[in-house]
Amino acid sequence: MLARFPRVRLAELPTPLQPLRRLGDVVGHRQLWVKRDDLTGLATGGNKTRKLEFLLGEALAQGCDVIVTEGAPQSNHCRQTAAACARLGLECALVLNGDEPGVYQGNLLLDRLLGARVHFVGAVDGTARRRALEELAARLRAAGRRPAVIPTGGSTAVGALGYVDAGLELLRQADALGVELRHVVVGASSCGTAAGLVAAACLLGAAPRVHVVSVDQPAAEVARWTAALAGEALDLLGARPARAPEEVMAVYDAYVGPGYGVPTPEGLRAVALFARLEGIVLDPVYTGKAAAGLLDLVARGVLPPDEPVAFIHTGGTASVFAWPEVMLRAEEYLGRAPARGEVGA
Ligand SMILES: *Cc1c(COP(=O)(O)O)cnc(C)c1O
Repeated sequence: MLARFPRVRLAELPTPLQPLRRLGDVVGHRQLWVKRDDLTGLATGGNKTRKLEFLLGEALAQGCDVIVTEGAPQSNHCRQTAAACARLGLECALVLNGDEPGVYQGNLLLDRLLGARVHFVGAVDGTARRRALEELAARLRAAGRRPAVIPTGGSTAVGALGYVDAGLELLRQADALGVELRHVVVGASSCGTAAGLVAAACLLGAAPRVHVVSVDQPAAEVARWTAALAGEALDLLGARPARAPEEVMAVYDAYVGPGYGVPTPEGLRAVALFARLEGIVLDPVYTGKAAAGLLDLVARGVLPPDEPVAFIHTGGTASVFAWPEVMLRAEEYLGRAPARGEVGA
């Protein structure tokens, strides 16, 4: 079904599906698993690599010679795009919010090392960034180049195909382990990752429910984008799914806190628990908040202790080196459940 789409191999697949035994003991859940998409392998890994297999496959099939994409200065998507372009011998231009920092750290440091050309737009809003992206692409075209423009997070229907594939891969792995997966928990921002997993669940009869944990937008928006992108991906596949996206997913925005990129006590506590109990590094922007959702849904019985759950670790590893003070504050939250809405700033 996915075989007729152009694809370049970039990820180390399948990524491991591992038990979270010590964390499960502490939170009282016997069937917690983690799907290690932080180990996809492209210059510290992450979820964007699966999307890029299809996005760059299409760009190469169309004869593009430069990839243009956008993000926040610590964008994991931009860093994975830069690494993929290096591997494929494509030029890479990144349009980032804000001003050039005095010190290059985390993902931004890797962007430079990987040879991407970095443009700072000054402004912090998405509209200005989008305009700068379009202008850059127009200048490249005028100069006779063939740019492929990849939007924020690589979240198009083509990009989401990477997570349709991931959803099918996850169920094959669970089957092989004799685990009847009932729930998948994943963080969402531009929603392509969740959309692919939702589309995969629509295709399968008794697939797990997909719990989508927003890290920035209101739940209604995330639900709308995820369902729309999942629908587009299913159309691309020419599939007639057994179920509609809305039937297989639940969306939460209770773990966002003050907004994108602002750490929360619940998120930092999740970072500390994963680190101390499992030796797994989460980040405060995406996976920490998604894991805060996982732990709260377990505590509230939405994810009952006997129903197998897979948490998708979407990466973010390189970004933690850009925020040492925030990361070290995580241990303050060990051993206590912070009150909802308490801000740790
Ligand atoms: C981009 C990203 C996400 C969110 O994925 P979307 O497809 O944009 O919703 C989650 N975690 C990490 C680490 C990311 O970089």
